[in-house]
Amino acid sequence: MQTILVTGGTGYIGSHTVVALLESGYKVVILDNLCNSSAKVVDRILKIAHPNAQLTFIEGDIRDTNKLDQLFKDHLFEGVIHFAGLKAVGQSVTHPITYYDNNVYGSLCLIQAMNTAKVKTIVFSSSATVYGEDAPVPYEESMPRGNTTNPYGTSKAMIEKILADQCIADNQWSVAQLRYFNPIGAHKSGLIGEDPKGIPNNLLPYITQVAIGKRKELSVFGVDYPTPDGTGIRDYIHVVDLAKGHLKALKKIQPTHNNPQEHRQGSGEHIWNLGTGQGYSVLEVICAFEKACGVIIPYATEPRRKGDLAAFWANANKARAELNWQAPLTLEHMVTDAWHWQQSNPQGYN
Ligand code: NAD
Ligand code: UDP
Repeated sequence: MQTILVTGGTGYIGSHTVVALLESGYKVVILDNLCNSSAKVVDRILKIAHPNAQLTFIEGDIRDTNKLDQLFKDHLFEGVIHFAGLKAVGQSVTHPITYYDNNVYGSLCLIQAMNTAKVKTIVFSSSATVYGEDAPVPYEESMPRGNTTNPYGTSKAMIEKILADQCIADNQWSVAQLRYFNPIGAHKSGLIGEDPKGIPNNLLPYITQVAIGKRKELSVFGVDYPTPDGTGIRDYIHVVDLAKGHLKALKKIQPTHNNPQEHRQGSGEHIWNLGTGQGYSVLEVICAFEKACGVIIPYATEPRRKGDLAAFWANANKARAELNWQAPLTLEHMVTDAWHWQQSNPQGYN
């Protein structure tokens, strides 16, 4: 049984990925400082996976180098899936040092501890934002990292570059840079889902909070984009499909002990888009939610949100070809599962 370290594993995407790992027979150790998640997630994960699933939760920060070194001494990890990071774009503009410290310095601490322990396999949570503001759509992995427009995006591009350079320096490193598009939805059990603190920044959590009566109406940011209905277009992906992509990527890049040749194939830097390849506008998402969930979402149109791009979506061919991974769950599944999670947990994990 292989053991995987999952940083940020009590968070939104991390928790769904931990379920997928446990269901596939991995042992999992979560390291999370709970700055944006709840320890209650751990019991929920076990409820879904199996009460006796091999899961250890350690509360701690990836910048705590002593803790990290001890962790790598205590466990024989076959690889790391690295979710831990701060993700609020707007906050990163007002608090850049906090973002670079947490995301970039934190990742460096992790990479250093991995190097010392000779654990050289990592799946990293990157983002479509690294393509920058001028990239043509759909985004393809062969495009260069572009002009990021905020410290959050820059921190992701920096971490990607650090990992890429490490692969050049040491050919035993295997790195999957997974560029997520817009993860939404929740596990179908309604036990785990997205639980934003305060006012949600993202579209779907805002919609579900309006639907449940926590917020009066949705603001639609920008109705004058050069898109068919004037609202922004994104590639929404079900978080459960996204989680499964991590397993496929991990398996692809993992060294096999008894086959060094295969190891060489998996080593190096690999970039994969994790999206569906299909874009939907804000109004289409509202419509899909109203239709699938039977709740009307009152909304007001507002000016464009600063820093938002008009439209982007993935070319998802590379992940399909190389990982044999696709995202079959539809927008209807995504909104239905998000609504089920919200209704089952009106106050999130509290
Ligand atoms: P999340 O906030 O729910 O999860 C991140 C987790 O990391 C949280 O549980 C938080 O407590 C933990 N964490 C943060 N800093 C830490 C630190 N220094 N030490 C230990 N734990 C720490 O976010 P998420 O949506 O699950 O995102 C996971 C990763 O995916 C992040 O790196 C994020 O930037 C990236 N990502 C997310 C999206 C998205 O739309 N959700 C899109 C692209 C990329
Ligand atoms: N959006 C919106 N109202 C909101 C939140 C988001 O109209 O309250 C729009 C936003 O302008 C973008 C789309 O919804 O066009 C997705 O935004 P989100 O913040 O979820 O993702 P990101 O901007 O990171 O792609």
